Amino acid sequence: MSQRITRRRFAAAGTAAALGLPVLDTGGLATSNEVSPLAVGGFPALPVRPYQLMCVICRLGAGCTDDLGDPRLTAILQAAREDPKLPLTLRCNVDTVYRYQNPGHAEDTAEGELFNAKRDLDIIHKLGLAPGDTRPAIDMFERVLAKIPQTRGICGYGAQTSDTWRGCAQADSGNYEKGRQLGIHAVIPPRDPAEKAQYKKTSAAALYQAQTLRIRPHHLLCMSCFHGGKDKLAPIAEDNLFEAIDAIQKQPDIPVTLIAGVCMICPPCGKYDPVNKLCVGGRSMALRDQKKDLDVLQKLGLKYGDTLPARKLYQLLFERIPSTRDICGYGDGETRAYEWSICGSAVKDDAYQKARAARLGIQD
Ligand code: SF4
Ligand code: SF4
Repeated sequence: MSQRITRRRFAAAGTAAALGLPVLDTGGLATSNEVSPLAVGGFPALPVRPYQLMCVICRLGAGCTDDLGDPRLTAILQAAREDPKLPLTLRCNVDTVYRYQNPGHAEDTAEGELFNAKRDLDIIHKLGLAPGDTRPAIDMFERVLAKIPQTRGICGYGAQTSDTWRGCAQADSGNYEKGRQLGIHAVIPPRDPAEKAQYKKTSAAALYQAQTLRIRPHHLLCMSCFHGGKDKLAPIAEDNLFEAIDAIQKQPDIPVTLIAGVCMICPPCGKYDPVNKLCVGGRSMALRDQKKDLDVLQKLGLKYGDTLPARKLYQLLFERIPSTRDICGYGDGETRAYEWSICGSAVKDDAYQKARAARLGIQD
């Protein structure tokens, strides 16, 4: 079946609640190990069993597209597609101190309590998470795809040691592995290419007409990596990095205002959510980006809303930030968690160094 589904197709769909999904508030704690109590305060999140994330991928691999043949799995998929930033909370049945989040057994599959408990813990272990952890849906699904290559050892164990451990009948079907090969776009549709192209046209034109550029701080570094010391640059479909550099080279003293969140570079990007004006890059990109922005501001001694001529801003940037490692590699280059990955251009910062030596091609 066709996997060509775009996000727009789900724009008309209802909210998670309208889909009949129990949207829980994770601000409070469960008071028993029975089914999901609601609490007051905090933020809304959709509770999911860890195995359900794998089963969604498994059924996509079996050829399903919208209807996964199970109302709960279909509803989870639909909710994630409608709002890729919807928080998903992992809940599974455990005996010990994490039991505050126990969901009860209503959504256990037929293979029995022990198998269900082990399968959920096996998945949570492979994800490097803990019961009760919450992540945006797109991040959660990307994490499953990245961290769990196969069902073996999770949904089934090869040799069957007893009926208790017979595992899921689909474990050896290869469907999960096929679903994984389809990638994140089978789970959460990509942005409509025609819409992206339209945004490229209008946002690039707006950038060239702007009297003041509005740029998020760490994109000043991205522009440098894109420049890479080259004499000749060309625009790309995915963002407006070229146009921002070009505008600055043509008008070195154009004012640049430093802003929070998405900026003039972003509108054509596949990760840009034009409705909410947010970056929905998976693997927690927006989290890293905010830290990078704040790190840049701190090093430059500036704040959001400050406006400087581009030439002066880049003089300051190249003087105070000698390497992308200082920002995009968090200074010490240590990846402390999946969410805090390090950009390739920070591991090897040649492109930034060349742009720094060429001062981004800004003439004196
Ligand atoms: S093998 Fe069974 S339990 Fe595992 S993902 Fe597929 S359907 Fe779900
Ligand atoms: S939308 Fe996100 S990934 Fe795309 S250019 Fe903007 S910050 Fe970068």
